[in-house]
Amino acid sequence: MTIDLHTHSRVSDGTAAPRDLVHAAATAGLDVVALTDHDTTLGWDEAAAAAVEAGIALVRGIEISTRFRGAGVHLLAYLPDATDVPLQEELARIVAGREDRVPTMLARLRELGIPATAEALAEATGGSEVTGRPHIADLLVHLGVVRDRDQAFAQYLAEGGPAFVDRYAAELVTMIGLVRGAGGVPVIAHPWGRGSAHVLDEPAIVGLKEAGLAGLEVDHLDHAPHTRAQLRAIAGRLDLVATGSSDHHGTGKTGHDLGCETTAPDQLARILDQAAGSPTTIVGKAG
Ligand code: AMP
Ligand code: ZN
Ligand code: FE
Ligand code: FE
Repeated sequence: MTIDLHTHSRVSDGTAAPRDLVHAAATAGLDVVALTDHDTTLGWDEAAAAAVEAGIALVRGIEISTRFRGAGVHLLAYLPDATDVPLQEELARIVAGREDRVPTMLARLRELGIPATAEALAEATGGSEVTGRPHIADLLVHLGVVRDRDQAFAQYLAEGGPAFVDRYAAELVTMIGLVRGAGGVPVIAHPWGRGSAHVLDEPAIVGLKEAGLAGLEVDHLDHAPHTRAQLRAIAGRLDLVATGSSDHHGTGKTGHDLGCETTAPDQLARILDQAAGSPTTIVGKAG
């Protein structure tokens, strides 16, 4: 059983439509795939229909932008009720913050002599429900300013870069409560990947577990082998679920192929046991 619990479609900053992503997951030999677009549930229905067509199990998820002790932390939320009003209100606030910063980022690039207009952005990306820095990166590729997304981040978009603009993110502890309140299961994405490692030490994770945290994404390409070993040990000591996932972004992020990192079936079972949000937890083959 091959299980990949973290992927993005072009509803956020992946490159495939939710339907195509789910079919690609089946073709790649996955038995279970989670769609976890940034800050939105908008891809869920299309993905669920495709899961039935493709004969693959879908876990509905979200990767939520949060802040903890001043650092950005991504929180995966599995199977919350998409109609939960407090959760959707907070997601709407995050998405609004994302959209609000786009004109400022484009203006910064224009100050650098790059013809970054809203029209050019739409042309380069084909539009998306939730705009992220990777879309601005795609614009820079489209304009021939950089080679790929990685170079765009390195030169312009990474925190502290000339076109970086901060945005609203929910407080991590508040968001863990909102996800649980919606019946979802909160798991920290790439906890010791870029940005968040220094704030997420073991005592902090103990506190987050007390706030309702269910698990840690241990196997992720941003984690070196010794990092994974340490995180797995923490998950074991604290009785947290340990997951693994590709964080696939289509052609937008190289090396993150579907199923390149996976979650063990017993760990998925623990997530499903705790999920009380979405009326159908899994559709397709396992449903
Ligand atoms: P945003 O959520 O719009 O601030 O953009 C964050 C997304 O950009 C993350 O989910 C990553 O997929 C991607 N990202 C962040 N930093 C980098 C980087 N240094 N190089 C390439 N992609 C990055
Ligand atoms: Zn992303
Ligand atoms: Fe992330
Ligand atoms: Fe992600």
